[in-house]
Amino acid sequence: MKRVLITGAAGFLGSHLCDRFIKEGYHVIGMDNLLTGSLDNIEHLFPLENFEFYYHDVSKFVHVPGELDYILHFASPASPIDYLKMPIQTLKVGSLGTHNLLGLAKAKGARILVASTSEVYGDPLVHPQTEDYWGNVNPIGPRGVYDEAKRFQEAITMAYHNFHGLETRIIRIFNTYGPRMRTDDGRVLPAFFSQAIRGEGLTIFGDGSQTRSFCYVDDLVEGIYRLLMSDHHLPVNIGNPDEITIGDFAEEIIKLVGKGEVTYRPLPEDDPKRRRPDITKAKAVLGWEPQVDRSEGIKRTFEYFKKVVKVDA
Ligand code: UDP
Repeated sequence: MKRVLITGAAGFLGSHLCDRFIKEGYHVIGMDNLLTGSLDNIEHLFPLENFEFYYHDVSKFVHVPGELDYILHFASPASPIDYLKMPIQTLKVGSLGTHNLLGLAKAKGARILVASTSEVYGDPLVHPQTEDYWGNVNPIGPRGVYDEAKRFQEAITMAYHNFHGLETRIIRIFNTYGPRMRTDDGRVLPAFFSQAIRGEGLTIFGDGSQTRSFCYVDDLVEGIYRLLMSDHHLPVNIGNPDEITIGDFAEEIIKLVGKGEVTYRPLPEDDPKRRRPDITKAKAVLGWEPQVDRSEGIKRTFEYFKKVVKVDA
């Protein structure tokens, strides 16, 4: 049985990855320090013989007994309000954490995939974003702690590949959504669903003309799986190129939930104005493209938020 270590296992993406690798017949070792993750997301895996969980902060030396075939590094605060609250942890998990896991991969002869992000493109001057665009990042702005940690992560991962011949994979993840997002993580989709379900105003930051392109989690997980199994060591964008303004997105959520209205708040500093992945490379190298369109994806996600959003009686 092949063995995979997944960091950030109790988080939104990490927990879906654990499910996928269990389904594929792997022995899955989940690791998380539960800073932003929740055991609720992986509770159903604990009874399984081929699942183990380590409560550990990967910014500190990582030890895993036995062999490892694959490592997926998905530990990190990942929403803007989380990394504003936890700037040092965000920097450490992307830098020291990645270094520790690269060292572990080298010691075990494992292949490692690291979760990078569309944030490496910053507030992009090229649209849509291709992998060869170098980005427009403010290193000392509020998002710098995440963006620069992830940029360093890419640099050190490439260095381990080039210098040590390590088998590495780098995925640049664009906005992703689906069940198990935290209702209070501050990101636009959980915020809008929670507000609409409670009948509160949907807080549009700025005038709502900024765009994002939202990928359903199952599509993302498929992209990650294919990239890990591929022989491509350079960064690959995975995301859904269907771009929408935040204002129009709020209207879609209001229509689906059947209540809510929009209210306006100031635009946060350095909030990217436009974001859409160019997925030409993912199509060519992985034969991957999204299968779940937004109308279907938000319906599935609404079912989840209906269950977890607390409405005051
Ligand atoms: N946003 C918003 N209202 C909210 C939360 C976010 O209008 O309650 C906007 C935010 O300013 C950004 C977009 O929605 O332009 C996506 O924000 P999110 O935090 O989900 O992720 P980002 O793509 O900025 O990392």
